Amino acid sequence: MYIDTHAHLDFESFDEDRDAVIQRAIENKLSAIITIGTSLETSRKAVELAENYAFIFAAVGIHPSDCAEAGDEDYAEIEKLADHEKVVAIGEIGLDYYKMYTEKAVQMAAFVRQIELARRVNLPVIVHNREAHADVLKTLLQEKATDVGGVLHSFSGEPAFLDEVLKTNFFVSYTGGVTFKDPRGQDELARLTPVDRMLLETDSPFITPAPHRGKRNEPSFVIHTAKKIAELKEMDVKELAEMTTANAKHLFTLNI
Ligand SMILES: [Zn+2]
Repeated sequence: MYIDTHAHLDFESFDEDRDAVIQRAIENKLSAIITIGTSLETSRKAVELAENYAFIFAAVGIHPSDCAEAGDEDYAEIEKLADHEKVVAIGEIGLDYYKMYTEKAVQMAAFVRQIELARRVNLPVIVHNREAHADVLKTLLQEKATDVGGVLHSFSGEPAFLDEVLKTNFFVSYTGGVTFKDPRGQDELARLTPVDRMLLETDSPFITPAPHRGKRNEPSFVIHTAKKIAELKEMDVKELAEMTTANAKHLFTLNI
């Protein structure tokens, strides 16, 4: 069994066939999907989806690219949503110095604020990091995100950054990016990551793995990422699936 620990099932590109996508995930041996909020609106939708399907769980939070518009009320609402029994994490939160839709200081304030929130409600954090490695790690440590733990999703960076992250209690998660013709070092990072610190995700509808490049991504495609990582680590894919599923169940306290 597999768990897709990061999907955006509420996104528009699933509007036509969301139920079919969810059914295919069940047929392809997924035992859970965590659908992730990026704003107050998408966090609400994530919780709604989690209410409708037993094996779907939700994360609520405000993405660094969406935090410019978020005010006190949004954060108060996110905190209320976090109380829901199907909400298993605060996310996605973090820093994005690649797209830079929001200036750094605003991103940092939103990140710190939501780590504090996660600590108050005692939920792990799901962290988005693009080209902000040093600041992300420093902030997680300074703000004691390690008290609640979490995951650096769609992991990227140099092997030295991976080493620093592995010194904390954080998990790292890999997407279909490892299957790309040019995996930009993600294959090497996955190979270097101990399986007991690893999670699998699709980040659907984005980052579609081979052999489905060019199509929309969906949770059932997590299997291609698992196969590729098992190959890289020269281990049985069943064992990889079992261990990463156990990690996800443990981190997010999934009732499945
Ligand atoms: Zn995401």
